[in-house]
Amino acid sequence: MKITDLTVTMFERTIPKASYGRHTLPGSGKLSMGLVTVSTDEGIQGHAFLGSPVRTAELDAASLIIALKPVVVGRDPLQREAIYKDMARRAGLSTWRCVGAIDVALWDIAGKVAGLPIHQLIGGFRDKAPAYASSPGWADVGNYIEEALAVKEHGYAAYKVHPPRLDPKTDLEVARAVRKAVGDEYRLMFDSTGVYTYPQALMVGRELEELGYYWFEDPLPFEDIYNYTKLKQKLDIQVVATELSPGAFHAYEPWVSQKATDALRGDVALKGGITACLKTAHLAEAFRLNYELHHGGNSLNNVANLHVFCAIPNTEFFEVVLPDEAQKCGLINDLSVGRDGFVSVPKEPGLGVEIDFELIEASKTRVLT
Ligand SMILES: [Mg+2]
Repeated sequence: MKITDLTVTMFERTIPKASYGRHTLPGSGKLSMGLVTVSTDEGIQGHAFLGSPVRTAELDAASLIIALKPVVVGRDPLQREAIYKDMARRAGLSTWRCVGAIDVALWDIAGKVAGLPIHQLIGGFRDKAPAYASSPGWADVGNYIEEALAVKEHGYAAYKVHPPRLDPKTDLEVARAVRKAVGDEYRLMFDSTGVYTYPQALMVGRELEELGYYWFEDPLPFEDIYNYTKLKQKLDIQVVATELSPGAFHAYEPWVSQKATDALRGDVALKGGITACLKTAHLAEAFRLNYELHHGGNSLNNVANLHVFCAIPNTEFFEVVLPDEAQKCGLINDLSVGRDGFVSVPKEPGLGVEIDFELIEASKTRVLT
């Protein structure tokens, strides 16, 4: 079996306005997405999407074609590990998002060849995931309360607060108000996306402990292993870093060896695909750490993340970023969170979902070849 072509079909979509703090993409709400298609001489195709509400696909697509396509076309698509190694060597010329997109498409092909959904091809562990809802950044505490109550009422397993992040005192007011609104028993997490100094993180973390929050995500700058190590020793609440730490699989080593985080974190887009996520999850498992999946930013990435979730034992929750519809595009049968708070993994071969090719064709801007 041989890969005969690799293309990125660029298409446009409009997303609802939402704030994601400093990650908010400037612009009008129009977003470029990319459909990555890996074609083979046996007629089987694999797919992935590029682009998210915080990153236009324009930033990645050209480098995928220029830097990665030459090491992919002509190869056997089932030699994923060998292709991954060659792509990873070129990640500096392209991006880990592009490595991840091609890797997801190769797993899609492998699942279709085997006649198995990806999670079972890897080694099935479960067929559904408890989902938690992640807030956008709101300016007003009232928005957090309203959203947290709606999320709890829907049945989500937990609610994660991305506070306003203007100053830690205001962030703590939000943390207190949300806890008061949902009651003591409902599971809450807190993610400050790397904005605090060490003293601020210590102060916030101590109060989150008293408020009964489940984990404190990315309190410090993403690369600050030195202060993470200190912070983790001082706090009882789980400190969860590495979602946006620089690098991919090999960059987790100091986080584990220096005991700088209570769990590893990543997703198929940020860390280089299903292959990299699996390596990381298994690394974490050896140290009895969880591997908590970050959301994927688009529909196919989230499906790929869910397959990883359902193929590993050491993970707890599946992340759904609100507004949910901002993250969803291009599928006919997208994932949805049931009233029991669970999201079920697709059972068809490969990624196991149907791409809305008509919608993509109708909003196509160009094809990169
Ligand atoms: Mg996060």
